[in-house]
Amino acid sequence: MSRYSAFDRFTLKAATKAAEMLMAPANRREVFDQFVMTVTAVTELSEHMRRITFHAPELASFAVTGPDEYFGLLMATGRDLVMPPDDRINVRSSLRAMPEETRPDLRWYTVRAHRPEVSEIDVDFVVHGDAGPGTRWARRAIAGDQAGFRAGGSAYRPPTEGSVLLAADETALPALAAILEVETRPMHVYVEVPDESYKIDLEAEWVFRGSDEPGSAALKAIRGRTLSTVEYAWVCGESGLASGVRRHLVKDRGVDRKTIMFSGYWKAGSART
Ligand SMILES: Cc1cc2nc3c(=O)[nH]c(=O)nc-3n(C[C@H](O)[C@H](O)[C@H](O)COP(=O)(O)OP(=O)(O)OC[C@H]3O[C@@H](n4cnc5c(N)ncnc54)[C@H](O)[C@@H]3O)c2cc1C
Repeated sequence: MSRYSAFDRFTLKAATKAAEMLMAPANRREVFDQFVMTVTAVTELSEHMRRITFHAPELASFAVTGPDEYFGLLMATGRDLVMPPDDRINVRSSLRAMPEETRPDLRWYTVRAHRPEVSEIDVDFVVHGDAGPGTRWARRAIAGDQAGFRAGGSAYRPPTEGSVLLAADETALPALAAILEVETRPMHVYVEVPDESYKIDLEAEWVFRGSDEPGSAALKAIRGRTLSTVEYAWVCGESGLASGVRRHLVKDRGVDRKTIMFSGYWKAGSART
């Protein structure tokens, strides 16, 4: 028997079908596990990125669906973390039904590494001041803190053969790095970050946007390249980058929209609620 209502399952199926008319299919889950995790370590990877290691017994049996596995991080708004009920597929409906005083904040992050043998995950957070609950929480996290995990899914699902283009910004770097760890074929890889200080040790064409609009530098770099063919593309980062690169691939290069996975990980000037 499913944990979810027939209505919820029907809605998910319809949303999946609608998404697959517009973009490449993702790796979907049937059940969205939910549990509390404890911070066990915090490592400063750079002035812009903190790696937070979480432990939870449930992570021993948790299975990722793909290299760019993402999850919902639930952060206490009051003194204690109160988890939403886990009987809805749409976590936002569960959150809306909670009293405001105890309703946790939710933001989406990537499982950079999963070590089931020790029930741990690493998550790499871009810290950008105190502008939102995600960055605020990540900047202050110390060992012993708690946060909730809500399973998501993963998006990277290329054909077994064929040329692949990957484009990412700093928020999609954890996912990109995890994809490159499992991929063996040569790829076209573009990374756009604000400046040199965001660079990590990862082989790609790096471009810097400075104070220009997110996506503008990546688009310029991709436009300027003669790519043979693109049989699959994964384009994730600020919403202007994701939609701009996708538009270019479809309109100017004739790439089939159903072979492009794109996701606006954040939106300049708006919270990613
Ligand atoms: C599937 C998925 C996977 C993701 N994986 C990661 C990950 O592994 N690591 C990671 O750091 N992020 C990741 N993100 C992006 C992250 O969820 C967003 O950046 C989110 O907006 C952060 O929430 P916040 O509470 O800090 O800011 P919000 O409350 O969402 O936004 C507040 C303000 O901050 C701005 N803002 C948001 N993010 C940034 C940023 N990175 N730089 C500058 N300004 C920003 C917004 O435009 C807004 O003005 C992922 C998103 C998705 C959808």
